[in-house]
Amino acid sequence: MKSYSSPTCHCAALYFYDFLYHDAESNIPKNILSHISQCSYCKFQINRLRNIIFDRNDLSAKKTQLLVLIKKLKLHFSYVNAPVTCGIAKLFFISLSDSICPIRIPTPITVHIESCQPCNDDLKTIVELNLTEQQLGQLENLLKQSGPQEVPASFNLNRKEVQRILDRPQSGVITRYNFDDNISIQEQSFDNIYSGWPMTVQINKI
Ligand SMILES: [Zn+2]
Ligand SMILES: [Zn+2]
Repeated sequence: MKSYSSPTCHCAALYFYDFLYHDAESNIPKNILSHISQCSYCKFQINRLRNIIFDRNDLSAKKTQLLVLIKKLKLHFSYVNAPVTCGIAKLFFISLSDSICPIRIPTPITVHIESCQPCNDDLKTIVELNLTEQQLGQLENLLKQSGPQEVPASFNLNRKEVQRILDRPQSGVITRYNFDDNISIQEQSFDNIYSGWPMTVQINKI
């Protein structure tokens, strides 16, 4: 095997993309295919190309994830300086239960859930039930409806538990998340898990 490029390599290079992306048999002339299979230079170049393409796909996947996260955060922060009840928090249960783009900063919604034991329990239960993609979609729709909802039989063994979440009355905990320009990091106590975040949370119980 030779490890330098030959005039045939230059011809073969025109087909590297086809080789990676398409059905090699149909698009690439036979003599080029047999050259590629024997030429270490061409194989090296094809591998390099494969790595570059793979990296680029990885980057675009990250970009998609970031866009999903930004969209989620926008929804959460639309509740700044607004009272957040269980009825609002439950709309976010499904998106918060998915671990693909987790939210790692306190938001008006996450501080409600942390301050409200029943919401906290419900979210934990949803994660633990390990629902299918389809069931999660159904549950998200059910959580958005107002009034009593019947959990469909497709939830099988989880039906009772999901019904309990849907029927759970509001706890009465109302949180209000505000940005606070006056808080400096030094002033904040280290007992506070949100130390360093320029925000205040007001918790009321009715
Ligand atoms: Zn070659
Ligand atoms: Zn709640």
